[in-house]
Amino acid sequence: MIMLQNKKTKVLIVGGGFGGIKAALMLDKSTLFNVTMLTNDPSFRYYPRLYHTATGGGSNESEITLDNLFAKTNIKIIIDEAVKLKRYQKIIETKNSHEIKYDKLILALGVTTNYFGIKGLSQHSYGIKSIEEATELKKHLHESLVKNQKTDKNYIVIGAGPTGIELSGELKYYLDDIVKKHKLINQKINIKLIEAAPRLLPSLPHETSEAVAKRLLNIGVKLLVNHKVEGESADELIVDGNPIKSHTVIWTAGVTNSSFFKLNDFKLTDHGKVIVDDYLMAEDNIYVIGDNAATEYSGMAQTALSNALSVARNLIREDNNKPLEKFKSKRPIYVITVGRRWAAVVWGEVKINGWLGWILREMADLVAFHDLEPWWKAAQQWSYEFNNDNKCDICDHES
Ligand SMILES: Cc1cc2nc3c(=O)[nH]c(=O)nc-3n(C[C@H](O)[C@H](O)[C@H](O)COP(=O)(O)OP(=O)(O)OC[C@H]3O[C@@H](n4cnc5c(N)ncnc54)[C@H](O)[C@@H]3O)c2cc1C
Repeated sequence: MIMLQNKKTKVLIVGGGFGGIKAALMLDKSTLFNVTMLTNDPSFRYYPRLYHTATGGGSNESEITLDNLFAKTNIKIIIDEAVKLKRYQKIIETKNSHEIKYDKLILALGVTTNYFGIKGLSQHSYGIKSIEEATELKKHLHESLVKNQKTDKNYIVIGAGPTGIELSGELKYYLDDIVKKHKLINQKINIKLIEAAPRLLPSLPHETSEAVAKRLLNIGVKLLVNHKVEGESADELIVDGNPIKSHTVIWTAGVTNSSFFKLNDFKLTDHGKVIVDDYLMAEDNIYVIGDNAATEYSGMAQTALSNALSVARNLIREDNNKPLEKFKSKRPIYVITVGRRWAAVVWGEVKINGWLGWILREMADLVAFHDLEPWWKAAQQWSYEFNNDNKCDICDHES
């Protein structure tokens, strides 16, 4: 059994993503706690930039090692996977059969891809939910084009939420780059964005959805809304009963909560999220935050960060015998990049589209990195996006 050091309150945080890291950094600043981070990935994934890593950007744009993030802290890192909660003994059991004891537990495990049982998607489609997936997609885009000396019949992105839109907008530019750098002539690039709902960005205002649709059409992305994906084979995607030829289908349309919660008998909503109280507590001494928790605006990094802040503050208040404060949800700011130097912003009632939106997006990325790192490190991390040169990033071919 791994015993966390005694005397101080032993806080075990499971999940090294937005919520878990923010909570760990906050609690580490207090002398009241021994903080341990249990996570199955030695690096933090900055999801908002993964679309860019998949389309020519480096993996350093969207990952930071935990060793780096926690370099000047006392946070203990354990790389392993939480599998079982022994709630009465206050123990988490891991895949490698370790038992970790805690006084307070914070769970921030994030979500996993959901194919809704559509046949063939898990075998044949690409995704951008991890660095590995983004890198595999980039390699496929490059290799298939260079090896075959021609473009795929269709490049298909499924799901017109923010991720699908950001990816399809940038895809055109990246494919154009590869074609140019490898001097492939007369290549037609067909990109299709498929959405089952009647419009893009169904959860955002109509006018934003319309502006984004116009921008994508200008870039050259064909939009198929109100279209249902029914299956995929090695060579084609079936949409509303009709086959569309493609070897490049990217699924961005669905996620589901981590199976940890169902397997460990947490109380869940109909959508599978964990029911928490006003203090983000699921049970005595167990907090659930970020994408796992059934809170308003769950599913956004900004929500995970503010959840983490609220739990950390309350743990500090509790140890100081001060009254706890209820979590107050904040409406997130939506910033969606669509191709180069253009973004749509929805900030309460304010809507901004275009170059100014893109500037705001760049600022938002910088601020998000600074949420986890000092300014100088955040600025360095943010600047990786601009480290492009004339060379093909995969085979060093120069245009
Ligand atoms: C492609 C993409 C783009 C996005 N863009 C934006 C955006 O622009 N703006 C925005 O606000 N939100 C965005 N989001 C959503 C945002 O990334 C999530 O809301 C946020 O990551 C949630 O934080 P979290 O801490 O709950 O989970 P995560 O950040 O997903 O972290 C979960 C961590 O837990 C680890 N883990 C999982 N299971 C276990 C286990 N059993 N044991 C140990 N460790 C485990 C995982 O490896 C991971 O490190 C995007 C998401 C995606 C997929």
